[in-house]
Amino acid sequence: MELHAPFIKQAAIEVGFDACGIAAATPLTEEEWGYNEWLSNGYQAGMAFMEQHRDMRSDPTLLVPGAKSVIVLLVGYKPSQTMQGPARIAQYAYGEDYHERIKRMLFQLITAIRDRYPDFEAKPCVDTVPISDKQWARRAGLGWIGRNTLLVNPTLGSYCNIGELVTPYPTDQYDTPIANRCGDCHACVDACPNHALSESRANSSAMPSHSMVTTEGSNHALSESRANLSAMPSQSIVTTEGSNHALSESRANLSAMPSQNMVTTEGSNKVLTHSHISTFPHSQINELTNSQINELKNSPIPLLDANRCASYHTIENCADSLPPDIHLSKFAFGCDICQLACPYNQSAAVRYQLTDEHKKELEELRDADPTAFKHATKHTALNRIRHSQWIRNQNSCR
Ligand code: SF4
Ligand code: SF4
Repeated sequence: MELHAPFIKQAAIEVGFDACGIAAATPLTEEEWGYNEWLSNGYQAGMAFMEQHRDMRSDPTLLVPGAKSVIVLLVGYKPSQTMQGPARIAQYAYGEDYHERIKRMLFQLITAIRDRYPDFEAKPCVDTVPISDKQWARRAGLGWIGRNTLLVNPTLGSYCNIGELVTPYPTDQYDTPIANRCGDCHACVDACPNHALSESRANSSAMPSHSMVTTEGSNHALSESRANLSAMPSQSIVTTEGSNHALSESRANLSAMPSQNMVTTEGSNKVLTHSHISTFPHSQINELTNSQINELKNSPIPLLDANRCASYHTIENCADSLPPDIHLSKFAFGCDICQLACPYNQSAAVRYQLTDEHKKELEELRDADPTAFKHATKHTALNRIRHSQWIRNQNSCR
């Protein structure tokens, strides 16, 4: 049984996903991802679970025997406004826990696909199984890995959650990566108060995402643009109501990156340039020349040291107190500072309406006792932390 890719993508739109791309389920390579090297640098900090299931993270056939396709879905979460105050939470944590929401949508998509393919089977993944979400989203043409170490989607920015359906069925079309569009911008790197973001010219390395240090440890390995390696085919963004940003790209348009006027950075006043657009169809990984491989190995790699990241410390660090040299910037859960600096996020589609009622609920959390905190956060991303961490984090904000 071969699945018709446009049907899958249309079904994804109808379920409510903002974007869908499909990648062939061939294993990620070290040049492409560099996960082992990232681990060897110790950037995983205290997240020992990141050292487990290394092979499965890069090879979906170890997760789903005979896997042929990884269907990647994005849900944007940029809110209509941001929470202020002395104890803020990262924007992805507003509202319903994205694990629950996306898992529900993935099952709805499976049901929709079975309308046409009754035998369809797939494993739904939302950050809770060892699969590298960002890398698969990149492979599926849904964005690039920015210097903020996150997937950056042209429409949603880095404000997007990722889910996957790993299936043993092939599709009739596969997507391939789009160009990295960070250009010369370093706004996220410059904005980080803890100097957690950097770039390396060392051999390919990667690290986990800072903004979604979640149940399985995020599986957010980083990669960086690979200059001028090859062309890329169409990208596969699909959108739903509210965003109205239907994207398309063609091979002829590779150099037509977002308007340079549009994407000036806030923190550094640098204008993005796109002189070394990189594209990297994974289907050609094994066909690179030696010179291209050397270029890959010498390309700057975005690095995030979780030891220096406020998001890691507010969520994953369970110690009684936090390192005094880690600046929380008023965030008591997660940290959005580097994402707020990104020009793609400033122009990103709003996907979540923050109401006065939501704001009130979040504000009431500040003084919640352990029982109230547990109850109020049960179906939110904040259920990742204990009440004692919440209190510690708030005190550290002051
Ligand atoms: S989440 Fe905060 S601390 Fe972590 S890299 Fe971004 S700005 Fe720095
Ligand atoms: S702020 Fe955004 S566009 Fe600029 S380097 Fe970081 S991820 Fe790329």
